Amino acid sequence: KEKLLEINNLEVSFLTDFGKVNAVRGISFNVSTGETLGIVGESGCGKSVTALSILKLLEPSSAEIEGKIAYNQMNITNFTDSEMEKIRGAEISMVFQDPMSSLNPTMKIGHQLFDTLIKHEKSSRKEAKKTVLKMLESVGINDVETVFNKYPHELSGGMQQRIMIGIALICKPKLLIADEPTTSLDVTIQAQLLSLMKDLKNKLNTSIILITHDLGVVANMADRILVMYAGKIVESGTVEDIFYHPKHPYTVALLGAIPRMDLGFNQKLLEIKGYPPDLIDMKPGCAFAKRCMYSMVICDEAEPLVFECGDEHFVSCWLQHEYSPKIEKYNS
Ligand code: SF4
Ligand code: MG
Repeated sequence: KEKLLEINNLEVSFLTDFGKVNAVRGISFNVSTGETLGIVGESGCGKSVTALSILKLLEPSSAEIEGKIAYNQMNITNFTDSEMEKIRGAEISMVFQDPMSSLNPTMKIGHQLFDTLIKHEKSSRKEAKKTVLKMLESVGINDVETVFNKYPHELSGGMQQRIMIGIALICKPKLLIADEPTTSLDVTIQAQLLSLMKDLKNKLNTSIILITHDLGVVANMADRILVMYAGKIVESGTVEDIFYHPKHPYTVALLGAIPRMDLGFNQKLLEIKGYPPDLIDMKPGCAFAKRCMYSMVICDEAEPLVFECGDEHFVSCWLQHEYSPKIEKYNS
């Protein structure tokens, strides 16, 4: 499979009054053409920061980014803002949780789509309007002419998010990054929007990075899943690997004792006792050690290595070491 996005040892830190926050601590992953990659984890685990650093949407005065980001074989790590402008929207676009923070409240819906399109593609006004109306139709809006002339506040949250998806896809980007795209919506609307995203993705062969704290969402959408904890990827694998053969104690805790893909949208992350570590003052060893019921002496001393548990299945946990006293019991 062709690699569309390659992230290599990405580190993101922020300078704050309290010290340097290490929000993303050296992560590497790829996204293939047409693939949907889910990124899951509790809030503050670094999943949104990862997304924002791909598009260079973090405040450059406070965020420090290291590592390599390659898009379509092109090293975009040090792209300037004007170089990124050509990528954003046209090649990689993003949908956020709250549509009202991205939609312009003073501009009619149709014009917002129109603007995005015109910015990246040369076409006559008549052609552009046709494309906009078609996009409104394909995001499931019935009365397209009416909606074209409405302002964002005149639409429901679900409709606004449909518009956001339309804006994100109108230039046929190769990669869509969706950060909690349905979190603020009710369950029925969520399901409709996710199936809409899936349809459009299949039609346009778009790759998707889907960021969520909701396992039900990725179960139905993703091909592969990354589980993040305290700025690192602790486990990655196919949907089957993660749901049916989870290896990292954090993933297992997230899923609960019995993973249930059939629970779909109602399966929320379980509450895990304790708190994630302080990202300003990281201790050596495994970041999950304080909350882990399998913790061993080595876990407080050394950062776990990454172990391969299958073709595409990787886990960063000392339990998988061949000398781990608990491995057989744990894996059975
Ligand atoms: Fe638990 Fe140790 Fe594995 Fe960390 S490395 S998850 S503390 S067993
Ligand atoms: Mg977030």
